[in-house]
Amino acid sequence: MITASTFRLDGRLALITGSSAGIGLALARGLGQAGASVVLNGRNAQALSTAAQMLRAEGLTVHERAFDVTDADQVKAQVDAIESSIGPLDILINNAGIQRRGPLHEFAHSDWQDIMQTNLNSVFFVGQTVAQHMIPRGRGRIINICSVQSELGRPGISPYMATKGAVKMLTKGMAIDWGPLGLNVNGIGPGYFKTELNEKLVNDPTFSAWLTNRTPSRRWGEVDELAGAAVFLASDAASFVNGHILYVDGGVTAQL
Ligand code: NAP
Repeated sequence: MITASTFRLDGRLALITGSSAGIGLALARGLGQAGASVVLNGRNAQALSTAAQMLRAEGLTVHERAFDVTDADQVKAQVDAIESSIGPLDILINNAGIQRRGPLHEFAHSDWQDIMQTNLNSVFFVGQTVAQHMIPRGRGRIINICSVQSELGRPGISPYMATKGAVKMLTKGMAIDWGPLGLNVNGIGPGYFKTELNEKLVNDPTFSAWLTNRTPSRRWGEVDELAGAAVFLASDAASFVNGHILYVDGGVTAQL
């Protein structure tokens, strides 16, 4: 029987990468409000500590682990340490991501490497390491943050689109390979949300006008509006949801 408790996450431990700001922080708050203990992550320890203090002041149980998700050795050491010193991870949200804009014919190779490392390689590094702990337990939830750009393109962001398209297919691949071992792996595809990553677009009135007109809900998203999807996918209510990408985009991907 489905009740409100089916959606609760009490007693669960969640790692959310890139959660010192923006969408990751909002997802951490949402999972925490649903009862989970959360491990915040980011590279800047000071920003992480500020975010953790804010969530603790709201009554949530929060741990902090500063590490770079693009460094496979750091990822392994930190995930192993979380498992041994905090507890077994029930939920992973691969959220850390960056944007690099520019004409494709002039796009610097170093920017290409950065965006691939951060948006795609990290999903494999963190996902694989956490899955190695979850698989022997026969359960676990992994949520990869995709994008409307997993489906639809825009000028000047081809490398970002390539990463997010790949994360969508990696999500399906993880579900195919790890579903038989008890894991549920799904994605969330956010539309446009006002965060630091989108600062340039937020400050561009022409883009904002185009976007709101292009979006059936006629506005930008608020980061808190992503939390329900994450709580659902992490909860018992989503026990048979696997390999799915849930777009939270005000309808952008529905309309040509
Ligand atoms: P944001 O506000 O720029 O926050 C990014 C977070 O990731 C920060 O906490 C940052 O902290 C962390 N981070 C970046 N690189 C990292 C690394 N190598 N290792 C560990 N942490 C790292 O970005 P956002 O807008 O919330 O985006 C979050 C995710 O949602 C991304 O995957 C993005 O592609 C996706 N998304 C966003 C939107 C949107 O509208 N904003 C739409 C679709 C998808 P440090 O800098 O301290 O490391």
